[in-house]
Amino acid sequence: MKGKPKILILGGGSGGLVAANKLAKIFKHGEEADITLIDKNPYHEFMPSYPWVGLNFKEPDDIRRPLKLLEKKGVRFVNDEITQILPSKKKVKTKNGEYDYDFLIVSLGVVLDPDALPGYEDAYHTWSLQGALRFREAIRNFKGGNIVIGVSGMYYRCPPAPYEIAGQLDFTLRARGLRDKTNITVFNVTPGPLSNMGPAIMGVIQEILDNKGVEFVGNFEVVRVDKDSKKVVAKDGRELPYDLLLLVPPNKPNPVVFNSELTGPEGLPIVDPETFRSKKFPEVFLIGDGANAALNLPPAGVVAHFQAEFVANEIAADVKGAYIADSFSPVAMCIMDFGDDAVLPMCEFSQFYRDVSGPPNCGVLGRGKEIRLVKMAFEAMWFGFYLTR
Ligand SMILES: Cc1cc2nc3c(=O)[nH]c(=O)nc-3n(C[C@H](O)[C@H](O)[C@H](O)COP(=O)(O)OP(=O)(O)OC[C@H]3O[C@@H](n4cnc5c(N)ncnc54)[C@H](O)[C@@H]3O)c2cc1C
Repeated sequence: MKGKPKILILGGGSGGLVAANKLAKIFKHGEEADITLIDKNPYHEFMPSYPWVGLNFKEPDDIRRPLKLLEKKGVRFVNDEITQILPSKKKVKTKNGEYDYDFLIVSLGVVLDPDALPGYEDAYHTWSLQGALRFREAIRNFKGGNIVIGVSGMYYRCPPAPYEIAGQLDFTLRARGLRDKTNITVFNVTPGPLSNMGPAIMGVIQEILDNKGVEFVGNFEVVRVDKDSKKVVAKDGRELPYDLLLLVPPNKPNPVVFNSELTGPEGLPIVDPETFRSKKFPEVFLIGDGANAALNLPPAGVVAHFQAEFVANEIAADVKGAYIADSFSPVAMCIMDFGDDAVLPMCEFSQFYRDVSGPPNCGVLGRGKEIRLVKMAFEAMWFGFYLTR
């Protein structure tokens, strides 16, 4: 490697943003390495706050910051769409340019794919900023009836979020005097609410749903939305009638990664679970939602965050000869704001990821309204640490 190492980060979401910050710190604000981050979105968006935008509690500019702010830390930001990753040439192509690298971090997330579910166009969601703003209009015009909230598959960002949104809707519709005229139902492919996180978490979530009069329907694998009769239809023939449908869209792998040499025949990236390096190209690291389906880790910002810090250390060790810092902790947590109640569930995946030798170890870290304040404080802290104005 001649001169300063070139480190390229693809994606300015949770994983890419944390990696950029950590690398800027390790390599002295860009003095000891050329660090570049590429994203097609000029902003970093704090996804856990999308439902708050959907329910009019926050505006888009409250939950996003320009990625250009990274330049204050010595990280070059390129606002462009990545079109091709060519690891055998150590190159990345974008719509407007071409970049080479010594080290590459890929944190491009997953892509929402509503077209994969027939009839999806009648549904709403808060899994993107545009989606949240569209949902805001729908809920503003809602006058009562059946609200159905559900998921299109097992792998979607932040598994607890649909329950959280059900609680927030109960809270907001009570304030508007519409709750008596509204039924709220949540369906999922799991048998119980968050039953895959174990009985402790499921028990608390079921209790909150019961207190709020929200019905849960389990083992419901949606196959289509019948927009003429306004029903969601499950694989086993069950149907749920709706007036307003909030449905997490199907996810698909990011096509840029999917179509690259980083992916195996099953369409998932081939990643070493100990180092998050590509098994074929060790100078390429794959982290975040796009890699975690291949690693039995959930699509959660916390996981992407710890992976980002870990891979920044790996790069530092490669460049400097040795570097010891943060190890990777396979944990995920999600602060669930239900309006008048809140829960902080946490899972640890050390037995589950890599070889599935045991279930995730999950528990409830906190419960009560004050946890809601923790969520607000966390958002402020996130921007304060990673994208300071
Ligand atoms: C409603 C909701 C609530 C959530 N709550 C929590 C929570 O409480 N706790 C938690 O841990 N996680 C939560 N998450 C999940 C968390 O936000 C994601 O898991 C995390 O953001 C994943 O990080 P990532 O870096 O893998 O990808 P992302 O954050 O999705 O970032 C990917 C980036 O790549 C960019 N990109 C993609 N393709 C291209 C391309 N071709 N060219 C250029 N740029 C491209 C995108 O613009 C994006 O900025 C929540 C998510 C949602 C939607």
